[in-house]
Amino acid sequence: MSFLNQTYQNLTPYTPGEQVDEAAYIKLNTNESPYPPAPNVQKAVAEAAQKLNRYSDIAVEAVAKPLAKYLGVKQEQLFLGNGSDEVLSYIFQGFTEKGIAFPDVTYGFYQVYSGLYQVESTVVPLKEDFSLDLAEYDAFKGTVIFANPNAPTGIYLPQEEICAFLERHPDRLVVVDEAYIDFGGKSMVSLINQYKNLFVIGTFSKSRQLAGARLGFGIGNTDLIADLNRLRFSLNPYNVNSLTQAAGGAVLQEQVYVDQKVQETIKVREWSKQELTKLGFEQTDSQGNFLFAKHPKLSGESLFLALREKKILVRWFNQPRTKDYLRITVGTKEQMEQLIAVLTTILNEVKA
Ligand code: PMP
Repeated sequence: MSFLNQTYQNLTPYTPGEQVDEAAYIKLNTNESPYPPAPNVQKAVAEAAQKLNRYSDIAVEAVAKPLAKYLGVKQEQLFLGNGSDEVLSYIFQGFTEKGIAFPDVTYGFYQVYSGLYQVESTVVPLKEDFSLDLAEYDAFKGTVIFANPNAPTGIYLPQEEICAFLERHPDRLVVVDEAYIDFGGKSMVSLINQYKNLFVIGTFSKSRQLAGARLGFGIGNTDLIADLNRLRFSLNPYNVNSLTQAAGGAVLQEQVYVDQKVQETIKVREWSKQELTKLGFEQTDSQGNFLFAKHPKLSGESLFLALREKKILVRWFNQPRTKDYLRITVGTKEQMEQLIAVLTTILNEVKA
């Protein structure tokens, strides 16, 4: 017997990548940063812990002020959430009366939130090469959401194409999920004053080493942000806890460290791409902090399992268009060297 409302009985929840003992595995499965937060970020969290008897600041000033400055937007154009997942959740809950459209190969939560909020979703297949053609969304009338760079493909859609779409559809909300933008491509944030129908989502989970703190943000026109806050204050005004606020504020003072790690990740990504190509892998030109690769000789599942056996965790999506591929988070250079060494062994065993 279940006490769950009938509406939710058939809900298909999201399947997160496994969190494992890092001493036992090389963890390349959830697109986190392989680097710890800067020492000052850790210190700021320890200090904030002394005031945990108090509720967190509902204005999230410690983050909002420096983040607005960094992004070149007004604080009233900024919304902060418990991870960008929460920001996405509000979009699906409250801004989808005419339905929502997104690509078939993309972040799995779009489908999950559609189910949770009973939103009519239109799934538009990406082209054969996994590229996105926004012209295919022209006939549809509702909200559009896509990740740029996309996940798990890493493919980046040039800004001009997004601008052209925003101009063709001034009355439709267009949500660009820029979780991975710091690793490649140009952010749409600078165009926020130009397009009232644009909403950009970002996160501190990937380029800023704070996946565990859960801090995401959205940038949009002030009316849209006020509407988001109406929902937020109807659910959980304290959505960004004090420790996370301290971490977020501190990481924004550590831009040199953050930039350095982003540059390192990009360098290691490009090196890894070359090495995978040498091993016979076919790949997309990922602009994220991950690779999307398949091998003609081994199925995605067998590669995933063989790597797991050798204590390297990557992500495999058992879905029709992506089941041949692995999504491999870009780790440190040492981790990626080990990955390449292990893949070389696995592939040699196939040949033998
Ligand atoms: N968008 C995309 C495209 C993602 O891949 C992810 C994380 N896997 C998120 C949003 C959510 O990130 P977070 O909630 O950690 O900010």
